[in-house]
Amino acid sequence: MIDTTNSPHVKLKSIGIGDCRWTDGFWAEKFKQCEEVMVPHMGTLLKGDIGHGYNNFKIAAGLKKGKHQGFAWHDGDFFKWMEAAVYIYAVNQDAKIIDELDEIIEVIAKAQEDDGYLHTNIQIDGTAHFSNRKYHEMYNCGHLYTTACVHHRVTGKTNFLDTAIKNANLLYKLFQPQPKELSRFGFNQSQIMGLTELYRTTKDKRYLELAEIFINNRGKSPVVEDSSTEGYPIGDMVQERVPLREETEAVGHAVLALYYYAGAADVYAETGEQALIDALDRLWDNVANKKMYVTGAVGQAHFGASTRRDKIEEGFLDAYLMPNATAYNETCANIANAMFNFRMLGIKGDSRHADIMELVAYNSALVGISADGKHYFYANPLRYNHGQREYQDNRDCTESANREPYIECFCCPPNLVRTIAKISNWAYSLTSNGVAVNLFGGNRLATKLTDGSEIKLHQDSGYPWEGNVKITIDACKQEPFEILIRIPGWADQCTLLVNGDASGEEISPGTFARIHRAWKPGDTIDLKLPMDVKLMKGHPFIEETRNQTAIKVGPLVYCLESPDLPEGTRTLDVYVPSDIELEKQNDPDVLGGITTLTGNVHVKSDERTSMYEPIGKPEWKNTSVRFVPYYAWSNRGNAEMTVWLPVVWK
Ligand SMILES: [Zn+2]
Repeated sequence: MIDTTNSPHVKLKSIGIGDCRWTDGFWAEKFKQCEEVMVPHMGTLLKGDIGHGYNNFKIAAGLKKGKHQGFAWHDGDFFKWMEAAVYIYAVNQDAKIIDELDEIIEVIAKAQEDDGYLHTNIQIDGTAHFSNRKYHEMYNCGHLYTTACVHHRVTGKTNFLDTAIKNANLLYKLFQPQPKELSRFGFNQSQIMGLTELYRTTKDKRYLELAEIFINNRGKSPVVEDSSTEGYPIGDMVQERVPLREETEAVGHAVLALYYYAGAADVYAETGEQALIDALDRLWDNVANKKMYVTGAVGQAHFGASTRRDKIEEGFLDAYLMPNATAYNETCANIANAMFNFRMLGIKGDSRHADIMELVAYNSALVGISADGKHYFYANPLRYNHGQREYQDNRDCTESANREPYIECFCCPPNLVRTIAKISNWAYSLTSNGVAVNLFGGNRLATKLTDGSEIKLHQDSGYPWEGNVKITIDACKQEPFEILIRIPGWADQCTLLVNGDASGEEISPGTFARIHRAWKPGDTIDLKLPMDVKLMKGHPFIEETRNQTAIKVGPLVYCLESPDLPEGTRTLDVYVPSDIELEKQNDPDVLGGITTLTGNVHVKSDERTSMYEPIGKPEWKNTSVRFVPYYAWSNRGNAEMTVWLPVVWK
C-alpha cells in the first residue's frame, strides 16, 4: 500500500491505511477470515518448523542453531506476512499484533550485519554477498522496505524502518557508483517499489535515485553468462535484453516483469519522465490486450521461450498464445498485475486500471486460497483434466491439482493474504477535490480530502452477487466537491441516481462518472449495475478459445467443476448451447455462500482413444449443471474444472 500523498505525477492519490473498512458482504467476510484465520494460521506456519521463515532470522541472529530452510527469497515472504499483520492491526488495533511484531523486529535487527546487510540464506550458508543474483537479495530488500514503510505509517514506530534504512544505505553505497560487477543485479525488482516507498517515507532522495539506477541498469549489459548470473536464465527471462524505455513487449518471468513495471510506475509518479510512462503505457497495453487471461491472470507457461528466443520460466509467451490447461498464472504474477494497475490508476486516473484490479481480485488472486483460508494454489490454470499432465518437477508443489497446505516456494500465499488484508485501501482514491470510488462492497470511509477537509461516507452493497451500490454521505465540507464513481467496462446498462433523481451526468462504461456538487450529510448516490450473465468469447487470434465461451457475471468468471456434473461425466464432455438460460441462485450453504448458475448443457460421450479420429455425429444428452465462481473451485475434493467450454450454436 503506497503513499502517493505527495507524489507530483499522481492524479488519484492513495487514502490512508485503515481509512476504509469493510463492514458487510463479500470483502468484509474475506477480511474477517483474513484476520481470524489466514494471517494467524500463516504466522503459525512461518514461525514454526514448517515455514521456517522466523527460524532463519533466529539462526542468522545467533539465537538458534540450525540450517537455513526454504528458498533464497524466503525472508521476503516472511516480510509479506508481517505486512499483512500490520494491515489487520490498522483496522482492529489489536495491540498483541504489534507487540509480537516488535519482538520479531528485534530478532531481525539482531540478524542484520553491522554494515546493514540482511539476507538469512546467504548469511547462514556463508555465501559471498552480492555474488550471484539468483539469491534474490534485492527481492528480500524490496519487501523489507515496503513492510517497514507500512509498519511506520500505521504505527508511527521507527524500529523496523531503522533496519530498512540501514539496509538501503548499504545498497546505495554499493550500487550508486554502478560498478560493472553489480550492473546486472537487481532482477526480481521489488526493491524499486520498496526504495521509492522508502523515499516517500523518509524524503531521502538517494533512495529514489537508486530506484532509477535499478531501472536504468536493465538492458545495458551484454546478455552473456557471467559469474553473477550462473544458475538462473538470462536475457528476456529477467527483462535485461532491452532497456525498459525501448521495450514494446512484456517478456520473461511474469512476476519479475510486473514488479519491474510497478516499480517503474512508482518512479514515474515521482519524476514524471515521459519516456518512462510511454513505455509503461505500451507494456500495459501489451499485457492487458494481448497476454492476459479472462481471469486477469498472467504468465502463460511454466517453461517456454520469448519471441526473441530466450528461455523463460513462469512467464509470458507470444501474444494471443493462451493455453488453458497448462497455463502457469502464478498467484504472485496475477497480484503483481493488480499492483501495476493500482499504480497506473493513480497516475492516469483511468478507471480501466481499476477494472483490472477488480478482475484480478475476484478471480485470479482469490483462487490462490481455499475456502478454509489454509490451502494455497501457486499456479492457476483455467482448465484441469485428470490424466492430461504428469507433473515432472513438482518438488515444491507450484503446479498442483489441489491447493497445498504449504508450498516450499512460499511467495504466493503471503502475497495473497497481504492483498486481502489491504484491499479496502484500494477501494477509494482522492482526487484534487474529491474522492473516487474504485471498488464496491459494504464499507465505511473516513478520510480527509486533499485540502484537509473531513469526508465520511458509507457504502451498502450486495456486490458482487448483486449490482446495487448505495453510497451515503455522513460528513463533508460545505463547499462543492466531486465524487467519481467507477462504471466498469462491462456495465453497459446501468443507472446512477443522486438523492433518488437521475444524476444528469454522463455514464459511460469503462470511465468514472463524475458528480460535482455541494454535498451534505444524508445525500445518497445509487448505482445499479447490470449483473446479467454474459457468455464471453476470446479474440479470434486466441486459438485456445475458438468457438468456446467463458461465463461471466459482473467481475466474476464462472467455471464448471466435476462435483457439479452427473457421475461419470467429464468437463470435456460438456458443450454450451448458445441460447443457454442460466438461473442465478444464492446458495448460502455452498462454499461459504456463493451465487451459483444453473442451466441445461449438452453432454456427449467421447472415448478419446487416439490422437485424431473422424468426428462423427455426437449423441447429445441434455443435462442440468451448476456453475460456480472460478475462485471457489477445488474446495470439494480432487476435481476437473474448466473456464472455457465449446459452444453449440442455436
Ligand atoms: Zn508467487
